[in-house]
Amino acid sequence: MQFSRLRLTGFKSFVDPTDLMISTGLTGVVGPNGCGKSNLLEALRWVMGETRAKAMRGGGMEDVIFAGAASRPARNYAEVSLVIDNQDRVAPAGFNDSDTLEVTRRITRDVGSAYKVNSKDTRARDVQMLFADAATGATSPALVRQGQIAELINAKPQNRRKVLEDAAGIGGLYQRRHEAELKLRSTEANLLRVDDVVEQLA
Ligand code: ATP
Repeated sequence: MQFSRLRLTGFKSFVDPTDLMISTGLTGVVGPNGCGKSNLLEALRWVMGETRAKAMRGGGMEDVIFAGAASRPARNYAEVSLVIDNQDRVAPAGFNDSDTLEVTRRITRDVGSAYKVNSKDTRARDVQMLFADAATGATSPALVRQGQIAELINAKPQNRRKVLEDAAGIGGLYQRRHEAELKLRSTEANLLRVDDVVEQLA
């Protein structure tokens, strides 16, 4: 899955709309301490559906919204868009009718997050699956945080296995299996209820 552009508006330190063009191959981000390099990586995770505020180095999800500076007031929303080249149709069914996909997430104070794919409202779960199936996503081992290598070395074997599974792109399958099991359990409970009703009527 080739990312071609990242756009941030009101996201953490990126108060003004900022475009980052992403070419094929390796992309390096360099700059002085505190200039926002990690914020860029977090924007990528966030637009892919990250739900843990802690993973965004915040106490709550709204902490990603520009909080204001001496000369600029705080913003009311943050938005990140990621443009994906989909010419080889690697996206899952339902997202494959276009050569490019633009995934947008916006969070508004006191309202929460909303996602769009090519301007169409989309569920968070579908955006998360879109990336999980392509072996990337908010928890992808391809996005390496500071300190993550040391964490991996000290991780339990089960957690290391999860990294390999995410890299193999089967994270989405586990999620679907989990959802299917929940549906199965609720259907079994409904069947028991039907049996009870039938017994009462007999
Ligand atoms: P280092 O090289 O030290 O790791 P970095 O380039 O990765 O730094 P970041 O950690 O991405 O920098 O950015 C930190 C900056 O982002 C800080 O100046 C911090 O004040 C600013 N920042 C973080 N969240 C917000 C927010 N919600 N509103 C405004 N600024 C924010």
